[in-house]
Amino acid sequence: MSTPLIELCDIRKAYGGIDTPRVEVLRGISLSILPGEFIAIVGASGSGKSTLMNILGCLDRPTSGSYRFAGKDVAELASDELAWLRREAFGFVFQGYHLIPSASAQENVEMPAIYAGTPAAERHARATTLLERLGLGSRTSNRPHQLSGGQQQRVSIARALMNGGHIILADEPTGALDSHSGTEVMALLDELASQGHVIILITHDREVAARAHRVVEIRDGLMISDSATQQPADDTREGLQAGDLRQRLDQGATLRGAWKGEPLEALQAAWRVMWINHFRTALTLLGIVIGVASVVVMLAVGEGSKRQVMAQMAAFGSNILYLNGRHATLREPAGIVSLDDVDAIAELPQVKRIMPVIGGDVMVRHGNNNQKFYVGGNNVEFPNILNWPVVEGSFFSEADERAGAAVAVIGQKVREKLLGPDANALGQYLLIGNVPFQVVGLLAAKGASSGDQKSDERIVVPYSAASTRLFGSHDPEYVIIASADSARVSETEAAIDRLMRKRHQGKADFELTNDAALIQAEARTQNSLSLMLGAIAAISLLVGGIGVMNIMLMTVRERTREIGIRMATGARQRDILRQFLSEAVMMSMVGGITGILLALLIGGGLLMANIAVAFALPAILGAFSCAVATGIVFGFMPARKAARLDPVKALTSE
Ligand code: ADP
Ligand code: MG
Repeated sequence: MSTPLIELCDIRKAYGGIDTPRVEVLRGISLSILPGEFIAIVGASGSGKSTLMNILGCLDRPTSGSYRFAGKDVAELASDELAWLRREAFGFVFQGYHLIPSASAQENVEMPAIYAGTPAAERHARATTLLERLGLGSRTSNRPHQLSGGQQQRVSIARALMNGGHIILADEPTGALDSHSGTEVMALLDELASQGHVIILITHDREVAARAHRVVEIRDGLMISDSATQQPADDTREGLQAGDLRQRLDQGATLRGAWKGEPLEALQAAWRVMWINHFRTALTLLGIVIGVASVVVMLAVGEGSKRQVMAQMAAFGSNILYLNGRHATLREPAGIVSLDDVDAIAELPQVKRIMPVIGGDVMVRHGNNNQKFYVGGNNVEFPNILNWPVVEGSFFSEADERAGAAVAVIGQKVREKLLGPDANALGQYLLIGNVPFQVVGLLAAKGASSGDQKSDERIVVPYSAASTRLFGSHDPEYVIIASADSARVSETEAAIDRLMRKRHQGKADFELTNDAALIQAEARTQNSLSLMLGAIAAISLLVGGIGVMNIMLMTVRERTREIGIRMATGARQRDILRQFLSEAVMMSMVGGITGILLALLIGGGLLMANIAVAFALPAILGAFSCAVATGIVFGFMPARKAARLDPVKALTSE
């Protein structure tokens, strides 16, 4: 005698108890099944057959009694070991086929092998062979709803055989089939039995049961007859023996993470599921799309304006101070900063350069062209203090300054507008407010880098010439001062302030400002704006995350039966967890990518509207990771809920 494969001893199963009346569905079933048996369990509807099958297939646990599988007490097995049994030892065939509707015949058949960690190529080949053997070679890519009942049942038999299917548990396999398909399926089970598979056939139909080699009848949860009490030992049959399965269970079930599951495949499956509900998914993902898009755009605009500010700072110099006489008020006249003040300040050790400025818009003429330009009287410090070199000719000299020479250095736009774009400006005469000035130099183009398009419409002449010949005033309008040390601008500012007060009898009738402070203040307002946009982005991501959670909870509910099927074919809890988590991640990834594309689009629009934007890769990657993290965080709860479902309840759910 060989060891029984399955040994049930006084198995009882009761439902209800606390708030519903307690029903005892199985009332003490004792049954041994040997390797190689083809056994039918027959009984009227409601007699407890399916309940018994779920217990046999380790989908459900009995209320009491013992179940030994290959000599091992099933009650002591962990959930992963039970999953191993469902995956490697059993193959289920259900009355309602229980195929996954979103997957093709081929994919349905392959599923148990995915959970067993079979390499893809081997899996594909075996599934194709099985489907061909069952006469479905041409239907491998059809989805279940495109197949007839008989075909679907054959697909589910192929699935049961995928990992070997040593013990086929068939619950009313012909129940939903016409007689012809039913006969075919029965012939198939017969053939499998003759090949050494253990077949446990459950049916209410005595005629169907008669095909089996042993018939057990149950009624109201009790076994009332067993056709073969003394089972002949048939060790010559090439079926798998209990000892082998026992050994494999001991090794296999403890192997952790057998499902390496190519992540690409998981994502593909997730994509397919998402696509089936794409409209619903798209609506839900709006939160993530908006969140990611606003983060990316906000950072790009922030970065763009920061770069612009830095360009301005570089253009003007961050060590620059401005000094001018205070404007007149009702009580006091305007303050005046004189050239003597300028000379005195120039003596301060903290001051590196100083330049008085007098200027205004003046009509300038050359030939028939005339146009107003800003004309400034400056000194020889101009190229250095404003970081603005001459590209043709040279800047005027100290001697020109002393002599009040009528010489001019002109900006690029002045040449372009008065002389023509490629004209040689040097040596030409311009009539500036009726005084002829000779052009001695051409300034570099500055408009693009300073952010002020007008800056190239400028003419620079010696201060002396400007004050006497053009503006009729000796005192500078304002003074530009370069601090010796750009890190200590405020010290320089204090020194100038002290000196000016001393020279002006203690009166602070002047204003001292600096560029860096102004620009930094502007940058700070922009920062607080960014902060606000950041908060909007964070809220959108949160809303998006809640959307993902909501849709995942819905998915889990809608696909409870699918989860049951996966568990029946041997998925472990963590396989289910991983599947639903990858769906959540897939969704948020799509949301993230859409958000980034939207951001690039908006950025393009802003650029066209002349708003500085600078996309930075780290910002884009950061926003994308945030979206994916949202998916993981908010997808986890629904995925765990799915993983913790009870297999039988999931399978029998609507
Ligand atoms: P069969 O497959 O032989 O038709 P089942 O095993 O499906 O019978 O059911 C046997 C009995 O157990 C039925 O009376 C059914 O109502 C009851 N039953 C099955 N599942 C549950 C459950 N989850 N809760 C309460 N009663 C149940
Ligand atoms: Mg049933």
